[in-house]
Amino acid sequence: MVAQRLDGKACAASVEDELHDRISACRSAGVEPHLSVVIVGDDPASHVYVNSKVKACERLGIKSTHISLPEDSTESEVREVIQRLNDDTSLHGILVQSPLPSHMDEEALTDLIHPGKDVDGFHPENLGRLVQGRLDGMLPCTPSGVMRMLQWAGIDLSGKQAVVLGRSRIVGNPQALLLGAKGADATVTIVHSRTNNAQAVCAQADIVVAAIGRPEMVRADWIKSGAVVVDVGINRVDDDSRERGWRLAGDVHPEVAQKAAWLSPVPGGVGPMTIAMLMENTVRAAEHVVAQ
Ligand code: NDP
Repeated sequence: MVAQRLDGKACAASVEDELHDRISACRSAGVEPHLSVVIVGDDPASHVYVNSKVKACERLGIKSTHISLPEDSTESEVREVIQRLNDDTSLHGILVQSPLPSHMDEEALTDLIHPGKDVDGFHPENLGRLVQGRLDGMLPCTPSGVMRMLQWAGIDLSGKQAVVLGRSRIVGNPQALLLGAKGADATVTIVHSRTNNAQAVCAQADIVVAAIGRPEMVRADWIKSGAVVVDVGINRVDDDSRERGWRLAGDVHPEVAQKAAWLSPVPGGVGPMTIAMLMENTVRAAEHVVAQ
């Protein structure tokens, strides 16, 4: 068996297509969707991510403001920027690019973002709504992008055994909640670093979502024949055969393509979906203002 490709790039393009009309409707109502992205420091990967988000805004005609602060900014300076953006009624989404420099309390700062402008979906109010099974708010972009991609591919989750590898606040935990939510209806197991025999647990699953940040750890013998495998991992690994000396690797080994029915590629899988869902959350926030 060779797995079908869960093509996040194509799915993201279809999400963007659907957003065009919604953005036009906002504009007609006098509201220009506007995302503000805050980045602190010089982490090169973060700058690449921010540029992709700004480019997506440009493609869609969403206004974007890019605020870049020096690495040695204080936490209270970042706090002031967030407060100013919260008070600015001309913008609808605020994103603080992770990671922040180590001298800052990242969770405390993202908690300051107004929940209605929290387009990353990390505010306790938005995550709390998800825990309550209310899926109409700001959902975290990566897990909701995974759900959209599975739906787009016509993969039925109802009654299936799903394993989520990882339990982070931004990916693993919300992913497990979304897979097990009413409407999706999978039966979900979470695997984390203390799980006994993760391989055997994973090998029972019809659906596997890997979000552990361990390059190519999920091998073919972790996967049931015909399973659906979504690779969230983005890891840089050394590769002397490349001019730049590294390549991107997921959390899933490429040999899994010989066993799974579906597999999302890295890059070109979950990454573009995360950005597409960020755009959708920004449009949703602007629509909320139109409706007021
Ligand atoms: P975190 O480091 O926050 O969480 C990793 C999770 O994996 C933890 O819950 C940890 O368990 C678990 N884990 C680590 N090692 C093992 C192991 N050997 N066996 C089982 N579980 C393990 O990572 P994130 O959730 O932020 O990100 C995960 C991956 O997804 C990364 O590669 C990241 O780059 C990528 N990512 C990709 C995005 C995209 O757009 N495609 C967006 C966000 C992230 P424990 O809790 O016990 O420590």
